[in-house]
Amino acid sequence: MAYSYEAPVSQSLFDRASAVTPGGVNSPVRAFRAVGGTPRFMVSGTGPYLTDADGREYVDLVCSWGPMILGHSHPEVIAAVQEAVSRGTSFGTPGEGEVALAEEIVARIEPVEQVRLVSSGTEATMSAIRLARGFTGRAKAVKFAGCYHGHVDALLAAAGSGVATFGLPDTPGVTGATAGDTVVLPYNDLDAVRAAFAAHPGEIACVITEASPGNMGVVPPADGFNAGLKELCAANGALYISDEVMTGFRTSKAGWYGVDGVRPDLMTFGKVMGGGFPAAAFGGRGDVMAHLAPAGPVYQAGTLSGNPVATAAGLAQLRLLDDAAYAKIDAVSAELRSLVGDALTKEGVAHTVSAASNMFSVFFTDRPVRNYDDAKKQDVFRFTAFFHSMLEQGVYLPPSAFESWFVSTAHDERAIERIAAALPAAARAASEATA
Ligand code: PLP
Repeated sequence: MAYSYEAPVSQSLFDRASAVTPGGVNSPVRAFRAVGGTPRFMVSGTGPYLTDADGREYVDLVCSWGPMILGHSHPEVIAAVQEAVSRGTSFGTPGEGEVALAEEIVARIEPVEQVRLVSSGTEATMSAIRLARGFTGRAKAVKFAGCYHGHVDALLAAAGSGVATFGLPDTPGVTGATAGDTVVLPYNDLDAVRAAFAAHPGEIACVITEASPGNMGVVPPADGFNAGLKELCAANGALYISDEVMTGFRTSKAGWYGVDGVRPDLMTFGKVMGGGFPAAAFGGRGDVMAHLAPAGPVYQAGTLSGNPVATAAGLAQLRLLDDAAYAKIDAVSAELRSLVGDALTKEGVAHTVSAASNMFSVFFTDRPVRNYDDAKKQDVFRFTAFFHSMLEQGVYLPPSAFESWFVSTAHDERAIERIAAALPAAARAASEATA
């Protein structure tokens, strides 16, 4: 497909990048392969806006895939970072900042009695799975198709996010032995979980699930699904791991736990808690966390874990996220959902706006979406046309039909008006698109 607008500076940067980096990017979904065209190289961000290397400004509905919940360059976060940087960037020793961030997490999320800081969501889920295996002495992990937990070998089977975007069945490089201990089940299907426990008695260490999935598009858990998982895990001696890397500190002050109140044994966090820096965490039951080195035998470590600059950014961001901030984000999300839905309805485009608290995405189908198979049945070509029309009009959406859209406290009336002004043409483009 040819696009009527150009991004010459981004294109030349992408050409340079492609010569030295596989696919020209450091994380696959950034490459625009699912939607085509030139990925935009961004040079700055302020509030709800991003500016690319060609000098074009966009209203940002990706928010760095979740972390920038206060918008870009929030003055208090920047000040905290500058203050931390002025004292040094890494010490390889314990520091007060990491204690304060851990205390903030424990204070907000009641099931987290102890927490360990790491540098990415991938590390958090990888470590949580290892800990669950070490604690239970069992090998198998249950995950759900369409849920993405980072690029952990054992968790890449039938994953969402980039794996969904590119329709990859599985990935070369993950051995049969590693994948063989992963049981992949359809999402929102408790009978399948019951059957898995029956088929593998005494072998399942944990069930890991996105607290409310956002990596196959937004597909919230059906009523009672998370509670059912918790019950089945408890009845069968397995741990229930809730992956809140995306939902944590976003869907409420206490993440998705604050929404459904189902108490996990272990939880994982990332994105928002790092304030735009590489900080992530896993935590939960004290007796389980006590198995982690140096308190216990399960090894886990990191040179930059609890980095002073990252923890300062995360702490500053979390402290600004009070009830008023969440009320603002929820209201912006609700307004955008209704604007998008109205625009698509007006053009007769079959769609479902699917929301979980303030996270939402648009499926280009009017059939219900309860799992990954349903999500894949949408008219992806309509999303592609919609995406490019929005981009051309200065609105930056996730470049994939299988991702959540994210908003921030910085999305003000002006930003929303700009999105509203772009929607009619984008809805028309979606309606006129052909497969
Ligand atoms: N878990 C979930 C639910 C995620 O959405 C992601 C990333 O999108 C991860 C884990 C992996 O986090 P990271 O990209 O920081 O490794």
